[in-house]
Amino acid sequence: MLQLHKINRRCSDCKKVKLLIFFDKTQKRRQCLKCKKSQAEHRINRTPKNYIRNLVVQLRYSRKKQGHKWDISKEEVYKLYLKQGGKCALSGVEMTHIRTHDVEGDTNISIDRIDPEGLYNIENIQLVCKRVNFMKHNNNQKNFLNWVGLIYNNTNNE
Ligand SMILES: [Zn+2]
Repeated sequence: MLQLHKINRRCSDCKKVKLLIFFDKTQKRRQCLKCKKSQAEHRINRTPKNYIRNLVVQLRYSRKKQGHKWDISKEEVYKLYLKQGGKCALSGVEMTHIRTHDVEGDTNISIDRIDPEGLYNIENIQLVCKRVNFMKHNNNQKNFLNWVGLIYNNTNNE
């Protein structure tokens, strides 16, 4: 039993008993790493502003790495969010800012290039639900809306 106490610990947050290697050394191992991570993510996603800031940092990093020119500030994107009233530019659905380990919300805020061939600047950017962005994929706005119209008309002809 004594041996067990040396290699295990109870997390102060989730109260689960885990091996010591799953604990954060910098906090004298009171909180397990899983709880630490979810706390950090909660901090990122607590407000739309924080969520957008994180979104811009990540997208800028990956797009620059791909050789794209990036000309958008976090503040500009947040202003755009306010201008859109927190709603998806295409569907009008209120966008969310939740990110968990498992479920990525369909309605989460995402950054879309209106013209996918165009530049990453604020004039060519709109905020849409992640699902909408996924559906639009590499279509330009006109092409995408045309397809949506065709599908809608074809499936609403009763
Ligand atoms: Zn824990």
